[in-house]
Amino acid sequence: MKRIVIALGGNALLRKGQRGTYEEQLENARRTAKFLADIIQEGYEVVITHGNGPQVGAKMLQYEYAKKHVPPFPLDVANAETQALIGYMIQQCLRNELMRRGIDRDVATIVTQVVVDPDDPAFQNPTKYIGPYYTEEEAKRLMKEKGWIMKPDPRGGWRRVVPSPDPKDVVEKNTVVKLVNQGVIVITVGGGGIPVIKTPDGYKGVEAVIDKDLASALIAKIVKADTMLILTDVEKVMLNYGKENQIPIDKMTVSEAEKYYREGHFPPGSMGPKVLAIIRFIRNGGELGIIAHLEKAADALKGKSGTFVIPDPQ
Ligand code: ADP
Ligand code: MG
Repeated sequence: MKRIVIALGGNALLRKGQRGTYEEQLENARRTAKFLADIIQEGYEVVITHGNGPQVGAKMLQYEYAKKHVPPFPLDVANAETQALIGYMIQQCLRNELMRRGIDRDVATIVTQVVVDPDDPAFQNPTKYIGPYYTEEEAKRLMKEKGWIMKPDPRGGWRRVVPSPDPKDVVEKNTVVKLVNQGVIVITVGGGGIPVIKTPDGYKGVEAVIDKDLASALIAKIVKADTMLILTDVEKVMLNYGKENQIPIDKMTVSEAEKYYREGHFPPGSMGPKVLAIIRFIRNGGELGIIAHLEKAADALKGKSGTFVIPDPQ
């Protein structure tokens, strides 16, 4: 049986222009569950990962606005909360969808910690904008008060920036592997996982965010997946994206992907980490990496949609 890691992008739970109400997100989770069920029905062993950008942003806003009444928690806890909230919606909707199709399968979310290196250069250069927008004055006060690093966001206003270190290991990896081997559909490393460092006293959460595509490549290696499928809101990866001469890529070898990556076709924070994740996956022995549109997930696995990345010919 083929084993596949499916990484869900932001559009799996929130669509453009939506406010992010519970009803909207649940409705999107129901839709997404159908696309996932199509793949499970084809006989794949599935591990699901997902992003959490808008949800963790909302969590930080709630902490901020309620802080006079309820003590706020740090960012690693906010990440844990979003793993539970998104995992719950997916596990419920997916189990319901499978039951509707007469398939009786366990679906479970694992709150997952991902180990990062405290010496990762990312800690010296925080790049990831998170949480509310502030005025310059408020930002300067918060930097003093909380020791946060804040920068003007190109989208307007000042925001907190946090490091985005590279995922190195998954603390709950043995649990994930055992469950997957027993046929459980596992949802893991949500939002890239909770970043933790190893200290003499044990694991400890840090204020950072891990890229969900790179965390997905790590979990794909851990579960020895054959295929990694990254689902997003474009049908194919493009060369010269957004320019007049843009060209969709149907298929490329991992060496070609590396060459295009070096040439700067895939920007950081969007397509860059997806292509890098697939490069890592194939270099670690994966057979096939696909980047495709969420709604074309099953088609992509049949070779009818998406961008395919394959190992170099022997
Ligand atoms: P997700 O939530 O799925 O991770 P992202 O917004 O992070 O989505 O990444 C997908 C986006 O990447 C697309 O909507 C597209 O605008 C952008 N993108 C950047 N470069 C490329 C490229 N070379 N080919 C296709 N899409 C690209
Ligand atoms: Mg993304």
